[in-house]
Amino acid sequence: MKLLTGGTILWERRLLEGHSLLFSRQVLGCIPDGMTEGLEAEHITLRTPCFVSPGFIDIHVNGAAGVDTLDATDAALDAFSLAMARNGTTAFLPTAVTSPEERLSAAADAVRRALGRPLPGARVLGLHLEGPWIDVAHKGAHPEPFIQETPDVGWVEKNADVIRFLTFSPCKDPSHTFLRRLLELGIIPSLGHSDASFEEAMAAIGAGAQAITHLFNAQTGLHHRSPGMPGAAAASDVACELIADGHHVRSELFEPLCRLLGPDRIVLVTDSIRAACLPDGTYEFAGRTVVLKDGTPRLPDGTLAGSALRMNEAVRNMRDATHRPLPEVVAMASGNAARLLKLERKGTLAPGFDADIVCLDEDLNVLMTFVEGERVWNTEDE
Ligand code: FE
Repeated sequence: MKLLTGGTILWERRLLEGHSLLFSRQVLGCIPDGMTEGLEAEHITLRTPCFVSPGFIDIHVNGAAGVDTLDATDAALDAFSLAMARNGTTAFLPTAVTSPEERLSAAADAVRRALGRPLPGARVLGLHLEGPWIDVAHKGAHPEPFIQETPDVGWVEKNADVIRFLTFSPCKDPSHTFLRRLLELGIIPSLGHSDASFEEAMAAIGAGAQAITHLFNAQTGLHHRSPGMPGAAAASDVACELIADGHHVRSELFEPLCRLLGPDRIVLVTDSIRAACLPDGTYEFAGRTVVLKDGTPRLPDGTLAGSALRMNEAVRNMRDATHRPLPEVVAMASGNAARLLKLERKGTLAPGFDADIVCLDEDLNVLMTFVEGERVWNTEDE
């Protein structure tokens, strides 16, 4: 058992002061500070004013700290897992973008192995497959030669034990046959990189699509007579990924979006690539060269190629732009994703939930991270 003392605890949806958090592999409870004496537990005392928060869940992250899902090695996933923990993320979906089939198969195999072995940091929850069944008109940084016209149901079925979330364009599946098969396989269908009209997007949502991938980015825009994918987001109840780096979507829109969609539907994602957590320079993404400069990685033509965002920064950006209470903003990076992925024991700090915990200072820098009760990151050890 561990007893974490000295921080303000984000307990369910409240801020709780003057309490310590008791946990083993799971959260056991919150104990008033005067009542912890004699408890047989490892005492961990936080020295600086800080928040004890549920760990973040990133459902869309290509890479960080020099590695990428498509590296497809155990060493890369180990480094990825640790980089996530340093940024306060305790569970994640390594994300593979449009690539040749052999690279996607290798990535699926690496994620399959990661699901069955201990990792040094954040827990892998499965694969987010982004593409290759997307629209060239909104390809973003996905390499056009590998975009495919017809969903390969056989390949998806073969890897259904690993794929947890799949981004595709509904234009590639007008009959919704593929979408319905995804639902049968327990894979969350998410609409993205798409030229879908409002009507096409609404039809796919009606057929069971559950999310929109990086809302506003790489999709049809919002026009008052042609409301596109963002219009379908507003008119439905799907979850919406948001890359809150201030580059992909203007931060002035964060608060209006919270009001339009409701804060419970916003799922903060980083969409970061291997350049994240590294200095400005030249890096690889999806087999192409990207340049990281002024906080954003871009292709030579200026197209945004993922991000260099860290999850704690996304939370900070959302807090600073909306001035909403911290528990509500943190839920956008944890509880909302847990609900979307149907994770019954992650996403909040409450009795019986996994002890996935991040300690953040008042500026939301990561101090310490615990995954299922084990301390996997401590900034003081760096
Ligand atoms: Fe994308």
